Amino acid sequence: MTERFLHGRTALVTGSTSGIGLAIARDLAAHGARVAVNGLGTPEQIEVAVQSVRAAGAPDVRHFDADLRDPERIEAMMAEIGAWSGSAGPGIDVLVNNAGIQHAVPLAQMPVQKWNDILAINLSSAFHTMRLAMPGMAERGYGRVVNIASVHGLVASKDKAPYVASKFGIVGLSKVAALEYATAGSRDSGGVTVNCICPGWVETPLIEPQIQARRNGGSREDGVRSLLGEKQPSLRMSLPEDIAATAVWLCRREAHNITGTSVAIDGGWTAQ
Ligand code: NAD
Repeated sequence: MTERFLHGRTALVTGSTSGIGLAIARDLAAHGARVAVNGLGTPEQIEVAVQSVRAAGAPDVRHFDADLRDPERIEAMMAEIGAWSGSAGPGIDVLVNNAGIQHAVPLAQMPVQKWNDILAINLSSAFHTMRLAMPGMAERGYGRVVNIASVHGLVASKDKAPYVASKFGIVGLSKVAALEYATAGSRDSGGVTVNCICPGWVETPLIEPQIQARRNGGSREDGVRSLLGEKQPSLRMSLPEDIAATAVWLCRREAHNITGTSVAIDGGWTAQ
């Protein structure tokens, strides 16, 4: 049976109606956390996500609606989660900033609106959730911020100016927060840590347009092979569940001294 070491904890996973975020929400639930789901989708898609997090073992789960491009909606969402979690302020113990979008075209052709949206969702939303959630974590002596960055927070690729800028940004933001909260809590309480996970290619809807662009008249498998062959030496895609396992591990008490780091899950991409 899965050890429910997150029993009594509240987690927020942004962008958890799909892909990596949904897998993380499920895994946190399986380890006993009550989970606040956030993300876009039709009412049916959102209901499917919520039901699957409940089925994974969450004692309580609810979808909190917020378009993360809007700081006022983020503030309102954090207050709603605070009330739901039963504490005075936003009582979030585990904050996973995962929501993200991508748009791959050369810099000079990047629509200005795409730049603004990518920076708002992939970077600024994490600033807002962290500034609102972290003081409460420090008061309680336990908190985990897991920011889903990317290999593109560590190295660049062409045609991804706003994405790479946002991911380098979240790696830097995480280091600042790690330093500011390093002394919060204790070894026994678990402390407050902030880390990034930096995946290479992961099988989710986000990368489907890039797979299709690489087919060159061939099959989807040809597209996948072409993407992996260029950058990811293992020649294996990660599954969302592989990323989730590391996120959950970072929430353990024993991980109290792992802070300000970036864990690459990239099949050797950034070792090259
Ligand atoms: P996905 O498209 O499957 O999921 C993205 C999630 O973000 C969805 O739940 C979506 O509703 C949500 N979202 C998008 N815009 C939003 C908005 N304005 N407000 C609220 N929620 C919004 O993508 P994924 O691959 O699971 O990506 C998750 C994270 O992982 C992203 O930050 C992405 O950059 C990162 N990542 C993915 C890969 C990969 O290969 N898939 C690699 C490295 C990093």
